[in-house]
Amino acid sequence: MRIEGSCSAGLRRGLPETCGFLSVESKKPQAPAKISRGHALQVGYREKAARCSRIFVGLLAASVAVAAEPDWNAINNSAVDLLQQYIRIESIDPPANTAEAANFIKRILEENGIAAQLYPSGPNGQTNLVARLAGRDHSKKPLLLMNHLDVVPVDRKAWKVDPFAAVIQNGEIWGRGTMDMKGIGMEQVMAFVTLKKSGITPSRDIVMLCTADEENNGTYGVRWMIENHFPEIDAEYVLDEGGFGTRSILAEGKLVFGIAVGEKQTLWLRVRARGTAAHGSQPIPDNANVTLLNALDRAMELDPARPHPVVAEMMHTIGAPLAANKYTAAIQANTVSLTTLTSGVGSPVKVNVIPSTAEATLDCRLLPGVNTAEFISGMKARVNDPRVSIEEINRPEDPGASPSRTPLFEAVRRAILKSHPDAVVTPMLVPHGTDSNKLREKGLIAYGLTPMVLDLSTAGSMHSDQEHIPVAEFQKGIRIFYEVLTAEF
Ligand SMILES: [Zn+2]
Repeated sequence: MRIEGSCSAGLRRGLPETCGFLSVESKKPQAPAKISRGHALQVGYREKAARCSRIFVGLLAASVAVAAEPDWNAINNSAVDLLQQYIRIESIDPPANTAEAANFIKRILEENGIAAQLYPSGPNGQTNLVARLAGRDHSKKPLLLMNHLDVVPVDRKAWKVDPFAAVIQNGEIWGRGTMDMKGIGMEQVMAFVTLKKSGITPSRDIVMLCTADEENNGTYGVRWMIENHFPEIDAEYVLDEGGFGTRSILAEGKLVFGIAVGEKQTLWLRVRARGTAAHGSQPIPDNANVTLLNALDRAMELDPARPHPVVAEMMHTIGAPLAANKYTAAIQANTVSLTTLTSGVGSPVKVNVIPSTAEATLDCRLLPGVNTAEFISGMKARVNDPRVSIEEINRPEDPGASPSRTPLFEAVRRAILKSHPDAVVTPMLVPHGTDSNKLREKGLIAYGLTPMVLDLSTAGSMHSDQEHIPVAEFQKGIRIFYEVLTAEF
């Protein structure tokens, strides 16, 4: 694809980056960028710095003068610039060093008058952040705005653009973390800051939690915070990633906004076959590779699952069956993906040796409420081969789905409808795991809100070499979060 805009590499390298409410030494070269309206955000570091300062001063002045209506143009422009800077911080997990990313968010908050506390948690620089805005009613527990600072690794060769340059082209911002979940995180940050600047006191405390290690099951992130600092993050409600708006993925030709109330259980299994080592020139029936392949065929033949009540409610609310695609298929059934196959003798592996063992891993995703022990015993019964073992790599938590008839769900629904009056808003399940389930286990009501309208290629770009979000949707999402934060719930 064509990259719009340009500026000389000499101008772009190694200069300090400053933008009104923060100053950051950027390690990344500045990417050429232009948003779809033709408004050039980045001319060079120095020019941009001056521009950003002006934008932010404007934002402050507007907020003080007209508390009820923030200057959305200024906020939207700052937000894009800050998201680009955020994406350029390579907070890859592993090793999950989120110190720089956490400090970046901390500086944005502090420059806007919000105190933020960092919580270093792990050996590789894993760092979490907590900040709080006081609300009116202290009898109510807070709303937790939760986002994660880490991103998954990249296969740089497969990317058409630098995954950490935050290039904007054709009205989309590209890069690792745009979907998962620095885009949503920055929307939350901007809404949080705008709330502070508006002078409006929210109906209850709003706590922001930026976690490390979400891409490693929350080990030094939300799990660590729950174990070591739960009082600081204890809340009634959580808004996290998951759910989204779409005109195609959930129902054909209808704008549906799904708010995730539950997620599937993640169960990882190791399947190992044993056989007899032998010379490849003389085939034997007890070949571990063949035994493994036959076992996998049977292991992956899942029984149809009973429809989950949340999915039934989705179809009822939408008033139509779900569209047919891999996403909706995954939220209606238990699934298994064969993710790794390991076999062979020697390195490089010998083609003329039949190995004595062969191994595979299965990424199983079970609907909430499905009993994992029964699922595994069913799989073992189908395989029914003493040469094959099936063992659990992890044991999933299953807190079930959060209730959707709550004041916060209503507030989210109203906030979405204000921006998208033609939308159908429904509770939904997401097929992947998030930090939310760890907090649902603690009794918190957690919703996944990605307040953007996405198509399948965008929504499906997370963790891929095509990760991107539409700039305009990213900006609209800030407003939706802000409407939620200023609502009564
Ligand atoms: Zn994520």
